[in-house]
Amino acid sequence: MRSLVSKFIGGLTMAGALSLAGPGARANVTIQFDYTYDDGNFLSGANVGRRAILEQAAGVFTTFITDSLDLINPGGANTWTAEPFDPRNTNATLTISNLVVPANTLIVYVGASNLGGSTLGLGGAGGYEASGFTPWFNTLQGRGQAGALLSTPTDYGPWGGTLAFNSTKTWYFDSDPSTVETFTGQNDFYSVAVHELGHLLGFSLLLDENSNPANSWSAVTNSVSGIFSGTHAMALNGGAGLQLSGDLSHWADGTMSTVVGTGAAQETAMDPSLTVGTRKYFTALDYAGLQDIGWQLAPIPEASTFAWAAALGAGALVLRIRRRQRAAGRPPA
Ligand SMILES: [Zn+2]
Repeated sequence: MRSLVSKFIGGLTMAGALSLAGPGARANVTIQFDYTYDDGNFLSGANVGRRAILEQAAGVFTTFITDSLDLINPGGANTWTAEPFDPRNTNATLTISNLVVPANTLIVYVGASNLGGSTLGLGGAGGYEASGFTPWFNTLQGRGQAGALLSTPTDYGPWGGTLAFNSTKTWYFDSDPSTVETFTGQNDFYSVAVHELGHLLGFSLLLDENSNPANSWSAVTNSVSGIFSGTHAMALNGGAGLQLSGDLSHWADGTMSTVVGTGAAQETAMDPSLTVGTRKYFTALDYAGLQDIGWQLAPIPEASTFAWAAALGAGALVLRIRRRQRAAGRPPA
């Protein structure tokens, strides 16, 4: 019996045939948070109530993403080790053997540690190692999303990943993120959670060893000019490409769009910074970026049916805090 043994970093392209599995049924995607590594009780113990805010942040995505992610179910010769970065030490990697990931579900490990400097959070898809046969590798690579297996990927199907928050910052935990109060001098946990989940869901430059695009975000990013040419995003920008930030994993700092549902002007959620004392909601351009990564979205409701207010910017200090994203598994070479 011939066994294929390989080591992969999540997102690296693989040669080989497309999955033979037929397309699964589309459903709302579920984000399943795992607090095993929340040693400092940032969202556990006496702080377990904060998890509800993280669930609200997840709803930004799960309410609108109707896609199909295949079950990851190891067995027999098909084994794997999930290798998300460790939220307790973001330079280290967790090794989780033969994790079962339900269909249409992402598993996200959550924790907090001193991330240093002005970083508020880190988020990214997890890497992995695997052993087995080609269809198994294809499932891990794309979860039934055929476009994720192309040499120039057009789709994205991660197993999950990590969110890490900076435990040394002053945070604002809003039990109702749909309304905005004054929280001068505090960093909005909800806004950062949404932003880092955006990275995990594919706002992340990932190139292979030959500097070729290794995920669907990178496939529509010109790494020389820093121009993003996803068609949904361009449609909101008068047909022009979007300038990205220097790390090529965010819209350029200060990029404006409109809050979905209210139409209020707001800086995008997926630009690189968040002003202390302010909330940022996911905007139309942010959702367009998700579509350009390959996520299928349900129709976004109009203002009359969308409950969230957009009382933005009140009492904001003009101090800007930068956030970093983390590429899947390991930083690019
Ligand atoms: Zn970021």
